[in-house]
Amino acid sequence: MTTTNGAIENGQPDKKPPMLPKPATNLDIQHRQIFINNEWHKSISGRTFAVFNPATGKKMCEVEEADKADVDKAVEAARAAFQRGSAWRRLDANGRGRLLHKLGDLLERDRVLLATLESMDTGKPFLHAFLIDLEGCIRTLRYFAGWTDKIQGKTIPVDDSFLCFTVHEPIGVCGAITPWNFPLLMLIWKMGPALCCGNTLVIKPAEQTPLTSLYIGSLIKEAGFPPGVVNIVPGYGPTAGSAISHHPDIDKVAFTGSTEVGKLIKEAASKSNLKRVTLELGGKNPCIVFADSDLELAVECAHQGVFFNQGQCCTAASRVFVEESIYPEFVKRSIEHAKRRFVGDPFDPRTEHGPQIDQDQFDKILELIQSGKEEGAKLECGGSAIGEKGFFIKPTVFSDVTDDMRIAKEEIFGPVQSILKFKSLEDVIKRANSSEYGLTAAVFTKSLDKALSVSSALQSGTVWVNCYNALHTQTPFGGFKMSGNGRELGEYALAEYTEVKTITIKLSQKNH
Ligand code: NAP
Ligand code: MG
Repeated sequence: MTTTNGAIENGQPDKKPPMLPKPATNLDIQHRQIFINNEWHKSISGRTFAVFNPATGKKMCEVEEADKADVDKAVEAARAAFQRGSAWRRLDANGRGRLLHKLGDLLERDRVLLATLESMDTGKPFLHAFLIDLEGCIRTLRYFAGWTDKIQGKTIPVDDSFLCFTVHEPIGVCGAITPWNFPLLMLIWKMGPALCCGNTLVIKPAEQTPLTSLYIGSLIKEAGFPPGVVNIVPGYGPTAGSAISHHPDIDKVAFTGSTEVGKLIKEAASKSNLKRVTLELGGKNPCIVFADSDLELAVECAHQGVFFNQGQCCTAASRVFVEESIYPEFVKRSIEHAKRRFVGDPFDPRTEHGPQIDQDQFDKILELIQSGKEEGAKLECGGSAIGEKGFFIKPTVFSDVTDDMRIAKEEIFGPVQSILKFKSLEDVIKRANSSEYGLTAAVFTKSLDKALSVSSALQSGTVWVNCYNALHTQTPFGGFKMSGNGRELGEYALAEYTEVKTITIKLSQKNH
């Protein structure tokens, strides 16, 4: 299978890249079936679905299509694996840690292959997949491997003659429904803490990007996880995804994706068994640049913040607020950065920017660009498709954007930078917070006082000061308002995969 689609010209890289890993060649996509009980299965319906390479638009393979009947089978396996006395439940915390480390070792061993597969499936540059996505996966597995034997409750002093303590137990069978923008990373963000705490899993990857998740099935088996602990059901949202969110025997669902589908998941949970739900949804993230900032740093961070992963990030810096006095210079430099951004074949080491994921997203982005033009924003560069095949869109910059425009309100999930102007600190805080979302925000200033005042005023799960997309395995990530519920990563993630049990013992004597 070829992994090249020919470079597309947008900007020129100014230097030769250093020695970097090379993608796998002649990749044979082996894992295309449903993974249940550590075995590969055909779909019960007999149906399959096609998986495409967004850089070429070509079909790569067919994958078995799971729906409700297959999900039922996977849940049965996950439930059996969770039963009291099962091999998984008998394994102690140290054993779970070893398995997670082993899985981390296998991801390191197969890092080139996984990054190649992820790049072919999503269109993201191979080097980004290798250096960012895979690095994040490996660190997350190692981090949670270290937590397995540190999950502990509290001894709580209570009135009268009782001894009271809490224990943190696994929730049970967890569903994981993942998106196409970071297929493997979003899976591992869920798998790491879920397995660390002793749960079992039924995973539905996004229909556009099931390949790396399925490959993980083979590594789960090789690492030695008992059958049924991890099950993977590739398929569509309204069928396989909905079967998970409605399932009466699934105890929790962790979801990353659109706010629209997040609402459906909560609704399904409340209509079925009130399963626990954590949601990591969209954002319309403000990036606030004060006149006293390091201007070049702010321009570069805002640029990477919105264009990274072709703009397909829930953290995208999609509303850049710039203080009036530096606005013209900021816009000028942002245009230069966008024009320099190298768009092309994800396997070309110079490429910073690949195609959008599919035709739907491509059309949606171009429609939003059109709305920006019609509503009076100034199109400074980009604004159109590029290349003859695949779903490539030129890095696009709009200036003179105002709060009421659709490009300032809706999640574009594409390479579109909207630059707005502000006059005062109070004004920008109010405008930054006037969104239904509250996922991330960034502030650029050299004033500590300003940085702290703005950080505390922003309604946002994460605030970055003088940096962007600075995500760490150790720190919690999640949203305020309609950006979601719950937190992934860090110690906080453990709370999302455990139930707290209070044990109270009556003593015959007062304990003092
Ligand atoms: P989506 O529909 O929310 O997809 C996310 C996951 O949910 C996929 O696995 C999807 O399956 C599944 N799903 C869809 N409908 C479902 C249902 N009724 N019940 C259970 N699961 C269901 O996102 P999208 O349509 O691919 O993208 C649309 C927009 O969502 C984007 O433009 C972007 O704004 C946002 N988005 C956000 C993130 C994020 O990281 N927060 C990620 C992706 C997309 P299918 O594969 O069949 O769709
Ligand atoms: Mg969808």
